[in-house]
Amino acid sequence: MNNPFQNAMTQLDKVAKIKNFGEEFIARLRQPNRDIRISIPVKMDNGSLRIFEGYRVEYNNALGPYKGGIRYHPDTEINEVKALAFWMTLKCAVVKIPMGGSKGGVTVDPKDLSKGELEKLSRGWVQKLSDILGPYKDVPAPDVNTTPEIMDWIADEYEKITGDTSGAMITGKSIGKGGSEGRGTATAQGGFYVFETIRAEARLPQKCKIVIQGFGNVGLNAAEIFEAHGHSVIAISDSRGGVYDENGLDIQKLKEHKKKTGALKGFINSKNITNEELLESECDLLIPAAFENRITDANANKIQAKAVLELANGPTTPEADEILFKKGIPVIPDILANSGGVIVSYFEWDQNLKGQHWSETEVFDKLKPMLEDSAKKILEKARESNTYLRMGAFILALERIKEKMGG
Ligand code: NAD
Repeated sequence: MNNPFQNAMTQLDKVAKIKNFGEEFIARLRQPNRDIRISIPVKMDNGSLRIFEGYRVEYNNALGPYKGGIRYHPDTEINEVKALAFWMTLKCAVVKIPMGGSKGGVTVDPKDLSKGELEKLSRGWVQKLSDILGPYKDVPAPDVNTTPEIMDWIADEYEKITGDTSGAMITGKSIGKGGSEGRGTATAQGGFYVFETIRAEARLPQKCKIVIQGFGNVGLNAAEIFEAHGHSVIAISDSRGGVYDENGLDIQKLKEHKKKTGALKGFINSKNITNEELLESECDLLIPAAFENRITDANANKIQAKAVLELANGPTTPEADEILFKKGIPVIPDILANSGGVIVSYFEWDQNLKGQHWSETEVFDKLKPMLEDSAKKILEKARESNTYLRMGAFILALERIKEKMGG
């Protein structure tokens, strides 16, 4: 399995060959400003003590306070967090919000913890990091396996430690605790706006057959949004595999089925498939919405989608990027496609600092043109340099960061 940070650095090397940004500037982007590892002791319900390993990587803050989610996953480790923090830096630059890039995590399977243990772990994470976090320093948010409730615990613990009552030190909070309308669906909704802007360019039909990997916040919301706009979701999966129906799955019924049985498999009128089969299914649009390193040199040649919309972070390896480019399959890159989440997080931060609360319509009315504009600019950048969309996005982001950093 590729190390995600190596993948990120390979992408950086590639863009440096396409456009001359100067060696010193690229060298400065090869390392985060700081990466911090912490230990979090948690008294478990059975009276034993467990020590968890946690992280915060602050990659670059040239454009504003660091911004980036927190991931709870058994495979989370420092290289993953560094890669995600690097991509956050570029993502904020691509969509032109005044924030830098960071990321955090804990190596843990939250399914093994009771609610009380999870709360202690989350409060423990912020206790160790409160001096580097803050509305104008570093602002976390949700990512895989972290929820508005977890954000609320972290905000509350930070308030107890520092006395800051603005709530602006973290985003993705529940609405009652200062969260923004629309934050829950923002990543998927943003991906949909990007898709609509690029659809014709990617030669996709008006009504697409869609395959989605991931049935969490991003994957499930994407399925609902695309279905509501008349597209048909023909396959979708979670960590244990997926289901396929060439006539289109009924997402509401599938949700109920998963709630009842705990799994996607066995859904009425559909075929059970593995995650490998899902990625290789014939479709118009493939949406990876789970984890890194899913589309690799081992399966890229077998991808039959007409285009890929990366709602997960880092799902395509640099080797797979080359293969898909040669096959003429456009990959709409993560740092554009899933940036709706960080944009609405930025809106939440802005609302908290101004003491405002915007309606969902207001939030999405602001989000849409930002994504349309960034998507068009990336198409232009890719065309100018005769390269693929990820490199177009990197060029746009690096130009903006370099302008601020000099060098
Ligand atoms: P989540 O925890 O809500 O859901 C993750 C989903 O992936 C679950 O359905 C899980 O079953 C599935 N999954 C796990 N392992 C899998 C495997 N091997 N194959 C297929 N599916 C698997 O997480 P999320 O918030 O939906 O995040 C998904 C991706 O989107 C991540 O890459 C994350 O970094 C990215 N992302 C999330 C946000 C956000 O706002 N939540 C924003 C930008 C990017």
